[in-house]
Amino acid sequence: MNKNILGIIGGGQLGMFICMAAKKIGVKTVVYSNEEDFSAKAFCDRYIIGKLDNIKKINEFIDSADFFTIETENIPKEFLRKIQKKKKLFPSNEVVEIAQNRLREKQFLNNIKGIKTAPYFSINNFNELQNKAKEFKYDCILKTQEFGYDGKGQYFIKDSNLNKLKTLNLKNFILEKKIDFELELSVIIIGNLKKTIYYPPVENLHEESILRQTIYPARINEKLSNAAISMALTISKELRLEGVLAVEMFVTKDQEILINELAPRPHNSGHWTMDSSNFSQFDNLVNMIIKDELKIPEAFRNCKMINIIGNDYQKFKEIEKTFVSYDYFKKDIRPNRKMGHYIDFG
Ligand code: ADP
Ligand code: MG
Repeated sequence: MNKNILGIIGGGQLGMFICMAAKKIGVKTVVYSNEEDFSAKAFCDRYIIGKLDNIKKINEFIDSADFFTIETENIPKEFLRKIQKKKKLFPSNEVVEIAQNRLREKQFLNNIKGIKTAPYFSINNFNELQNKAKEFKYDCILKTQEFGYDGKGQYFIKDSNLNKLKTLNLKNFILEKKIDFELELSVIIIGNLKKTIYYPPVENLHEESILRQTIYPARINEKLSNAAISMALTISKELRLEGVLAVEMFVTKDQEILINELAPRPHNSGHWTMDSSNFSQFDNLVNMIIKDELKIPEAFRNCKMINIIGNDYQKFKEIEKTFVSYDYFKKDIRPNRKMGHYIDFG
């Protein structure tokens, strides 16, 4: 019974693409969603709708599948720990707990030899914010330690007037020095304890802290590319990774790589792998979980992956005529919401 059913926490576009990859190899999926309408709804075999702390629903979910994975790191620790007590979770809750907290993540990263992040301070009150922002010459970013994504929970500081941040309950924040980077890269690693594969570095362009475009391959030299891959592999090894890990990086003007953050799940900057490589990040993840198989991907075509965000979605029908396009089937268009993406091979 229940053999090889994959449980996925989260039913957004990443969950949807995991379901599609599972279907290709005949694997059934169960999605746990905390929203009624979600991208993966029409692509999973079963779904459970519940709050992320609904014990009854969580238990039902755990009983309904054999293996588990996630599409977001923003999941209460208790949920993940409960799964791991009974079943196998990819990646482990220890890995997710590091990646879901910016302070723990930065402490973890800076303890690895050869790995560095942007300078940062932990912030727990307004007084600390004032002092540390001054140390950073008021060129820094205040971020919640947990539950941020797509730039949410982030406040850019540009001058000494911090008054508008006074109303925030400043517990469990971090303050990061703003890096004047030359470009942003990411490397996606998929591994278990026996084998690890990676996708080559891609270049990421953000606007308002949201990914707009990913360029494969990144326009960097071989030395920098090798350094980025090697750092991502080192981090995944330290984490004893069993699953997907996206490593986001800044390249500074003097060609130093700083790690920005870790995402322990498929990543928006890996969507290009569905169209320009023989095994996508989703294929490799599902195959690794279910069949213990990992294939070294071969990328065969340069491309750009372009996100369709907010009102741009109104042009979807037009875009679809010219490009390979993906609709995330989201009911409401909201500003800064990822609604779909397309691939430009030009
Ligand atoms: P999220 O979880 O929202 O992706 P990130 O920390 O990755 O949060 O921030 C989103 C984007 O904001 C980054 O990709 C980068 O473009 C910009 N950003 C974040 N932190 C910094 C920083 N310390 N210096 C410069 N830019 C930053
Ligand atoms: Mg990020």
